[in-house]
Amino acid sequence: MTLTELIRKVFLVEILKGMALTLSRFFTRPVTRRYPKEKRPAELGFRGLHALVRNPATGDAKCVGCGLCAAICPSRCINVYTSEGAEHQKVVDRYEIEVLRCVFCALCVEACPYGAIALTPHYEYADYSREALFMTKERLLENWDKYMGEEGMRYFDTCWNPKDAHFKTPGGQAMFKGRIIGGFSG
Ligand code: SF4
Ligand code: SF4
Repeated sequence: MTLTELIRKVFLVEILKGMALTLSRFFTRPVTRRYPKEKRPAELGFRGLHALVRNPATGDAKCVGCGLCAAICPSRCINVYTSEGAEHQKVVDRYEIEVLRCVFCALCVEACPYGAIALTPHYEYADYSREALFMTKERLLENWDKYMGEEGMRYFDTCWNPKDAHFKTPGGQAMFKGRIIGGFSG
């Protein structure tokens, strides 16, 4: 043991430093909150309860039933059931998420080519029954109405909407500038 270490031990320097820090905290604002009386808004990018995005033109779900979200989901908790419509279009009959199995990785949001599924800022969905956390298409659309109001749209736009800028060719990258003939470059 060096002389400095011995002096620090004898005069309880570390303990005094710790007590000084504790005392200094007596006069600062507490950081703890009395939840649920005091709530704080979710940070941008928070991954809360799922919602199916409504098509603003029709009011129906934007989802086209391609199933990419279900394919990429690592928890296998998304099920999409489709049938053929009158004009041979795909109709989404059922869209279900077992929220209890979800790990909130957001891969479903990232994989969706239509921006049709979102994770909302809503985090207060604890419940006593499994059924309450089984989300059907109707319930997911309700979530969109309830939790993605004006502020929610800003949240969705900032964090989840694929932006044109995200897919632009990076500057300096070599690009082929040939003619396009019948869908093929020539
Ligand atoms: S957030 Fe991840 S685990 Fe949850 S439904 Fe989407 S892909 Fe599946
Ligand atoms: S939410 Fe998106 S990825 Fe999933 S089935 Fe619908 S359109 Fe396809």
